[in-house]
Amino acid sequence: MMMTGTIGMHMENITQMRKRHEEEIENLQKKCKHKQISDWTDYMWAPGHYGMPVKYCMFCGKILKQKNFKQTFVDEECSTQTRKEKT
Ligand SMILES: [Zn+2]
Repeated sequence: MMMTGTIGMHMENITQMRKRHEEEIENLQKKCKHKQISDWTDYMWAPGHYGMPVKYCMFCGKILKQKNFKQTFVDEECSTQTRKEKT
């Protein structure tokens, strides 16, 4: 309450901060050689939404490989059917 004015002068608002981060991340990902690649990881693109498996650069965070969601779904369906037939 006392220092609102001072903080307001020194801090950027969320929109400015996001924009700056987006630009910084973009620059980083352009420069990065993507040498440290993660294992297949479930990427959650939004809270409550199941992610699809991705491989990303552990340095800059860029997603480099992405499994086809439909393909994964078909595979799961097939393996379930196979198991049922065997039982
Ligand atoms: Zn990278």
